[in-house]
Amino acid sequence: MKNRKLLMIPGPTPVVRSIQDQMGRETVAFGDPGFVGDFKSVLSDLKELFGTSGEVFVVAGTGTMAMEMALANTLKAGDDLLVVSHGFFGDRFIDMAKRKGIRVDVLSYDWGKAPKVEEIEARLTEKTYKAVTVTHVDTSTGVAAPVKAIGKMLEKFPDTLYIVDGVAATGGERVNIDEYNIDILFTGSQKAFGVAPGLAILWAGAKAMDRAKALEPIPEHYISFEKWLPIMHDTSKYYATPAINMIWALKESLSIMKAEGMENRYQRHEQNARAMQAAAEAMGFKLLAEEGARGVTLSCCLYPEGVDDAEFRRVLAEEGAMVAGGLAAYAGKLFRIGHMGNTDQHELLGAVAAIERTLHQAGLDVLGKGLTALQQELVRD
Ligand code: PMP
Repeated sequence: MKNRKLLMIPGPTPVVRSIQDQMGRETVAFGDPGFVGDFKSVLSDLKELFGTSGEVFVVAGTGTMAMEMALANTLKAGDDLLVVSHGFFGDRFIDMAKRKGIRVDVLSYDWGKAPKVEEIEARLTEKTYKAVTVTHVDTSTGVAAPVKAIGKMLEKFPDTLYIVDGVAATGGERVNIDEYNIDILFTGSQKAFGVAPGLAILWAGAKAMDRAKALEPIPEHYISFEKWLPIMHDTSKYYATPAINMIWALKESLSIMKAEGMENRYQRHEQNARAMQAAAEAMGFKLLAEEGARGVTLSCCLYPEGVDDAEFRRVLAEEGAMVAGGLAAYAGKLFRIGHMGNTDQHELLGAVAAIERTLHQAGLDVLGKGLTALQQELVRD
């Protein structure tokens, strides 16, 4: 019998049975009073759990669409944008903004290094920007940007909107939108929310909404705040068909978060990340993310000498764990493993055990080393 294949890529993440059940329900009309109420409660929980009195949008689409929604509603051709990039997904903003005629400056970091608050401040002092984008955790590196400290610094630049890509972070990395002075935060359902791919979630504060209002109407129809806001204020209204079953799945994800408590959830992510990172090092991998800036949602593990990426991931999949390869210059040099959302300790143990068996087959003496390190961290107070 073959092992079950654990979904350990950094998104989509494991979808637990109770969330799957919501996706499998018989679909109802979007005007059904039960659904209208469910959608409303999803929106109110999203604001409360993530700490904002601003607006929230839940729209069918992916994280990339949310990136575009953030830019399209707040910037126009000719505006200046500072992209703070510490990896592949930070860079995605550059092309996206340029296609819209937005003028882009980039503050770029070597992969594995975290953005520095003082350096962002220096760039904002040199030139006035309409917005700055920061990727909370870049999924190509596993580095977490200091989003709280950046937000504090940005209080000195009230005309610059703070846009945070939380796709590989929100729901796992600690965040509080209003307290962190974030104007726009967004994520996708398939990462730390543990829902299948298909929904974009975007929070926008008063400053972002004022900017959007001044830009109305924007060229884009489907992703315009103006089109969706009436629905987010009254979920019985129609603009474009809501993804009914996905919204139910999101509701279940939120009830899991509420039952766990956000602080407990953040601490669980921290502990699981420490455990997975200790296990990786004990098995001979090096982490790409520098110490002190490691995200809690995924880890990027550089191969030891002599381990072939394609062969490693092929055997690992046979052993029962799917992980992702490296991106761009790191293709072939590392693998990426997710430990966010509703990934539990059994899955972490199963994945580390499968990695040990894979390395053992490649002739490395690792059996028990990763598991011991993992368990030690999992039982630490
Ligand atoms: N930003 C980050 C940080 C991501 O990790 C991803 C997806 N890996 C995206 C944006 C794009 O999201 P999607 O694939 O859902 O379009």
